[in-house]
Amino acid sequence: DIEFKNVSFSYDGKQKILDQISFKVNKGETIAFVGSTGSGKSSIINVFMRFYEFQEGQVLIDGIDIRRYSQEALRQSIGLVLQDPFLYHGTIASNIRMYQDISDQEVKAAAEFVDADQFIQKLPNQYDAKVTERGSSFSTGQRQLLAFARTVASKPKILILDEATANIDSATEEIVQRSLAKMRQGRTTIAIAHRLSTIQDANCIYVLDKGKIIESGRHEDLLEKQVTYYKINQFAAGMIDNA
Ligand code: ATP
Ligand code: MG
Repeated sequence: DIEFKNVSFSYDGKQKILDQISFKVNKGETIAFVGSTGSGKSSIINVFMRFYEFQEGQVLIDGIDIRRYSQEALRQSIGLVLQDPFLYHGTIASNIRMYQDISDQEVKAAAEFVDADQFIQKLPNQYDAKVTERGSSFSTGQRQLLAFARTVASKPKILILDEATANIDSATEEIVQRSLAKMRQGRTTIAIAHRLSTIQDANCIYVLDKGKIIESGRHEDLLEKQVTYYKINQFAAGMIDNA
C-alpha cells in the first residue's frame, strides 16, 4: 500500500510545486496521474523515491513513513521506468542485468516477459549485441522494452512509470502497452500517462494542475463529468485541434 497524506513540496523553498497532495494505492492496484506539462507529475515521483525531501505531510508504504526505510531498501523495492529510458555502453544483456547478480536465463526470461525477446533475437549476436552510449541505434520503443526488461529483472514490488512523450510507431506501441499490462499485474503501480490508452483501466486517475489534484475518479466517471479530464481525452483522441 502506498499513501500520500497532504504532501507539499518545493524545490527552492519558495515556489510550491506540490500542494497538499493526498492519494492512496492499495496493494496490487494501479493509479495514474495526468496533467499538463509542469503540473508536478514527475515531482511526485521525485519525492516518493526521495531524490528530493518534501517539506510537509507524510508518505507511507504499508503504513510506515518512507523516511524510516533506508534509501537503498526503498529504491530496491521500486521499479522506476523513466520518460526517456537510458541505455549504457555494453551489451543487451548487461543493460537488462545492470548491477544485479542474475543469470543469463533470468535475463532472457525478463526480456521474454516484456516481449523484448522478439527484436533481440533479430540482432546480430542477440543478447551479446553491442549497445553504444545512450543506445542511439535503438528506437524509442525498443529502448522502452529494454528498460521494462531491466525493471522486471529486478522484481520490484512497486512499479512507477513515467511514460515517454515521444511518439512510437503503432505496432511497437501495442507491444509496449501489452508489456505494461503484464508488468502491472500483482504490482502496486503509479503511472504517469500521456497516452490515455495506458490508464483506462486504472483503479483511480488523478488530474493534476499546478501541483494540486483537481479531479479524480475512474476513466468513465471522469469522462461523464466532462471537465478537465474529458478535455484531455478529446485532445488525445485528436478531436480538438492542436492550436
Ligand atoms: P511533464 O509532463 O513535462 O513531464 P511534469 O508534470 O512531470 O511535466 P514536473 O517535472 O514535476 O512536471 O515539474 C513541475 C515543476 O517543477 C515545473 O515548474 C518544473 O520547472 C519544476 N521542476 C521540476 N524539476 C525541477 C528541479 N529538479 N529543480 C527545480 N525545479 C524543478
Ligand atoms: Mg514529467
